[in-house]
Amino acid sequence: MKKLFFALLRSTRLINVIAWWNRKRVPILCYHSVTDGAESVQPDPHKQHIPLHLFLQHLDYLKKKHNIVSLPEFQKATRERRPLPDYSVVLTFDDGFEDFYKVVAPHLGQRKLPATVFVITDRADGRLVSNGESFLSWDEIHELASSGIDIGSHTCSHPYLPDLSVLDVTKELSESQAAIRSQLGQTQVSLSYPYGQVSESISRLAKSIGYSCAIASDAGPNDQSADLYELSRTVIASDDDVATFSARVSGLTWWISRCRRLFHPEKNVLRERSFSRRYGSAAAQSYLDS
Ligand SMILES: [Zn+2]
Repeated sequence: MKKLFFALLRSTRLINVIAWWNRKRVPILCYHSVTDGAESVQPDPHKQHIPLHLFLQHLDYLKKKHNIVSLPEFQKATRERRPLPDYSVVLTFDDGFEDFYKVVAPHLGQRKLPATVFVITDRADGRLVSNGESFLSWDEIHELASSGIDIGSHTCSHPYLPDLSVLDVTKELSESQAAIRSQLGQTQVSLSYPYGQVSESISRLAKSIGYSCAIASDAGPNDQSADLYELSRTVIASDDDVATFSARVSGLTWWISRCRRLFHPEKNVLRERSFSRRYGSAAAQSYLDS
């Protein structure tokens, strides 16, 4: 039903009008894994494993309609309060799945497109690998970094940060940053908060530890006055066809979810219960506040 609605909006070019309205705001697109099989990975309860053919359709759409800039370029422009070209977007990949090296990087390289990969540093060390998923090794991360891929941190072990003590959050943020710096000799390291969840004190900590910027919840495109330590991301789902994808990139899906929250506050309660069951009550509150 939702897909049909976005297809209709796209065919009437309304999405182009919304994209034009948001042309000066920058969506930071967040992918997870891209698989090279013809079929979608099942089960995929969090819609993280997008098939390659769909991902390539997204890239073709972006090449045609948008200007893809790197995360460091976006940060620099935001710091200098300098506008980027209209319709700019940033490409990022959370979790450091190994298929980034095998499946995604060659296509980005062919198209000369910049991207940032946020790695969970314990997994790059070969630790904490669970349920058969495979993650980038340091050798692969080295190779990606030397080919121009920007490497950021997604903490050491991907915990729910707002539930940790200050000491544990500090450890997660500083040790993962130190690992990337020592492995790659990279001075500027950006951060993506696991599950997009953060509190004011955690974002202050990320800044004081020396991260160059940090990406938080799924909250639409960023304007020029965005807080560099609580940037919004736009999460892309593994079954997003081009019409749905264009609605996300335009900022339309974020407007719809804001309106839904305003007009149906009772749905927040249901979302809070479901999030709370998964991550704890503090997590749920922070999720809803974000
Ligand atoms: Zn993650």
